[in-house]
Amino acid sequence: MKKNAEKNCPLNPRLGKVGGQAVMEGVMMRSPKQMATAVRRTDDQTIVVRTQPSTTVRSKYKILDLPLIRGVVNLVEMFILSFSTLTASTEMMGLEEELYSEEPSKFEKWLEKHFGKNLMNVVSGFAMVLGILLAMGLFIALPAFVTNLIFPEELDGDFWMNRLKCLVEGVLKVLIFIGYLYFTSLMKEIRRVYMYHGAEHKTIFCYEAGLELTVENVRKQSRFHPRCGTSFMFVMVFLSIIVSIAFIPNVWGWLRVLLKLLLLPVCVGLGYEFIRFAGKHDNAFVRFLAAPGLWMQRITTREPDDDMIEVAIVATKSALHEEFAEFEIPYESEYLKKKEEAKKTEEEANAGEGIQNETP
Ligand SMILES: [Zn+2]
Repeated sequence: MKKNAEKNCPLNPRLGKVGGQAVMEGVMMRSPKQMATAVRRTDDQTIVVRTQPSTTVRSKYKILDLPLIRGVVNLVEMFILSFSTLTASTEMMGLEEELYSEEPSKFEKWLEKHFGKNLMNVVSGFAMVLGILLAMGLFIALPAFVTNLIFPEELDGDFWMNRLKCLVEGVLKVLIFIGYLYFTSLMKEIRRVYMYHGAEHKTIFCYEAGLELTVENVRKQSRFHPRCGTSFMFVMVFLSIIVSIAFIPNVWGWLRVLLKLLLLPVCVGLGYEFIRFAGKHDNAFVRFLAAPGLWMQRITTREPDDDMIEVAIVATKSALHEEFAEFEIPYESEYLKKKEEAKKTEEEANAGEGIQNETP
């Protein structure tokens, strides 16, 4: 894989080497070697990092790394990964400790008793199923329903009318998608995630430009990156519109849904190949095709503050530790150990005082 990357971009080996994702109060960065999630804790503003090896099933099984197939594999991995890093980031923020320090309510006790340690998993699983159902309703059922209202059934046989119907359905999907992103960006927590998303892009740009990773250098970079998950989603939506106009304009109802589901991997595979290509090339053609995805980033990224940029830099240096060997990774485990020790000595000191007071 490395050989391939070198062949494709002899000018800049840094292009496409790191990718990332914004999480709750932090950024996850991923290099071919390892993944690092850096989060700023809500209690004392310390940045803590969790790392794990960057493994993909594609490196294990060559067949999964073939063009088109790798896009589908990547999407599935991306979903699982982004979900697990999001969950990890909420743990790392240190909110749970604050919550648990308070007296649990009756309902919390009941949950604890029935689900115990698995509580977080149950809640996350439930949220994921709910999210998938919501996505299917919003992006598949709603546009189909509205399109059927606009176009009367007796026109179903008409060749051009059917193609127009497909186009309308596709445009509706795009509008719903943009609206969805826009309305979520109005929520304070999501807006902060979008700011961290901006910090992630800027830091990657800074690294790819070969500049030193300082807050000043990163701040100057653009927050719109052509190789981004949002662009990927958008390219996929466009491809699905083209595919539906070209291949299934005369089929409606359940068969249509089935055909669309079957064609979905094709769209995903093609979309991924495009994003991969776009990440390594910079010419007018790529810029033209990447433009809608970049416009979307006007919603999904915001200008970050310097504290957020700092977190993104820590994540990048931790993920690329072979390049930034002098950088000391602020591991979360070490932070928690120190905190535990400090708590112990404080307790011992308090206990000592207590004894002193008792002695006459
Ligand atoms: Zn992005």
